[in-house]
Amino acid sequence: MTVAAPPALKLTNYINGQWIDSPTTDWRDVVNPATGETLATVPLADAAEVNHAVEAAAAAWPEWRRTPPADRIQPLFKLKMLMEEHLDDFGRIITQENGKTFAEAKAEMRRAIENVEVACGIPLMMQGYNLEDVARGIDEIMIRQPLGVVAAITPFNFPGMIPFWFLPYAIATGNTFILKPSERVPLTMRFAFELLEKTGLPKGVVSLVNGGKAVVDALIDHPKVRAISFVGSTPVARYIYARAGEKGKRCQCQGGAKNHVIVLPDADIQMATQIISDSAFGCAGQRCLAVSVAVTIGEAQKTFRDSIADAASKLKVGNGLEDGVQMGPVITSESKNRVESLISLGEKQGAKVLLDGRNSRIPKYESGNFVKPTILDDVPATSELADTEIFGPVLSLVHADGMDDALAFLERSAYGNQASLFTSSGSAARRFRYEAPAGNIGINIGVAAPMAYFPFSGWKNSFFGDLHGQGRDAIEFYTDKKVVIERWAKEHSRKF
Ligand code: NAD
Repeated sequence: MTVAAPPALKLTNYINGQWIDSPTTDWRDVVNPATGETLATVPLADAAEVNHAVEAAAAAWPEWRRTPPADRIQPLFKLKMLMEEHLDDFGRIITQENGKTFAEAKAEMRRAIENVEVACGIPLMMQGYNLEDVARGIDEIMIRQPLGVVAAITPFNFPGMIPFWFLPYAIATGNTFILKPSERVPLTMRFAFELLEKTGLPKGVVSLVNGGKAVVDALIDHPKVRAISFVGSTPVARYIYARAGEKGKRCQCQGGAKNHVIVLPDADIQMATQIISDSAFGCAGQRCLAVSVAVTIGEAQKTFRDSIADAASKLKVGNGLEDGVQMGPVITSESKNRVESLISLGEKQGAKVLLDGRNSRIPKYESGNFVKPTILDDVPATSELADTEIFGPVLSLVHADGMDDALAFLERSAYGNQASLFTSSGSAARRFRYEAPAGNIGINIGVAAPMAYFPFSGWKNSFFGDLHGQGRDAIEFYTDKKVVIERWAKEHSRKF
């Protein structure tokens, strides 16, 4: 919603080492999804503000690039300590603006810290390679050099973790970095940048520009921005990938998801239930790796259905800052309406509502955007809902005749972010790992989130690009390769 006069905490942008008021007239409320309380107002910056940030980043780059890698990572060591020290503060801010539970919020920051730790290995990871005597007396070397100014655009569902899939690697490899966080959850990165300010990073190395589409377009179009990283929904990922491609930019765009888990009858159903319940309903289903369709085979259709319905019905839903709460609200009232209407669509398309989380009221939190855990049973495999991203606490159950049938169903999905299998059979697991059409695979794992030293490997409409976030891909993405071939005449060396 746009308001004329910002009533609450007025957020600023962080450009060239300073917190700067935005001249924009376009402001958006930042609302606590559990309480409905307005926490702050965030400016939707314009192209001139983006230009200011890019010019500052471009001016900072030559000196930052010349700073030895071992010196460039020193601020990251400080940042890690600060993030550890302020883990609870991060947790509270994330829960307030995003809605997930305090424990989930802190867990997300653990993964953020892990990325800072990995980027501290840049002096080793950024090394190139060489070969003497590629021809007689001629040597060849490959050097990695930073790109210049790079930018990232991030979504609402992991306000703390996702910016850290990019920021530490970008600056450790010698780039200067601009972040545009989600305008729905800008407070977490405001706090992170307050900590970054204390690490001794030179001005202009990291900048924060709040806003929406206008900021994104200005970043993509700016001739001095070399690379764009994006995480968010598939339509926006596709749009950014195309626009960045037109401008000749390096680009990696992570999109939406519809994640499947296959439950075989030989699985430990009790363990599978607990893990799949956490995957489907944790973070109110607003994880890009949330399981949203469970495909059961054989008698798992009944055993898993009964146990997941029981587990999901017992989850305590409420304000994530309260003790004992296991699931928070969805991000906005629009999102709640959307999730509820998709549940109704599923019903119309032939599913049975086994557990219905629509029209939930949580005492004391009447203004919260709560949808309780929902299970749709017998979702027709060919229905529209079976492959629509719901991004809420809704698990669909589909029954398959066997592994062939289940894998064919996964193959038809437009998405390929994650696929999991629950089984006690090694050969079934191997077949699944070999054939499952997704980039992140879980075997008896519900959220197959790669550790920071592996790439976050989405496929199909869940990813546009070739180099993923995190791990070695991050180093490749943030550097240009330069190949040097050298010949030195022998006569010259004999002079000395
Ligand atoms: P979103 O696409 O609405 O927004 C993401 C970012 O893009 C935000 O910063 C937003 O300001 C910006 N944006 C929105 N519309 C835009 C437009 N038309 N042009 C340019 N920029 C625009 O996504 P969201 O609702 O914040 O996040 C949820 C989505 O992100 C889900 O689809 C989820 O699956 C996906 N996601 C994917 C991953 C992954 O790793 N693949 C991780 C997290 C979330």
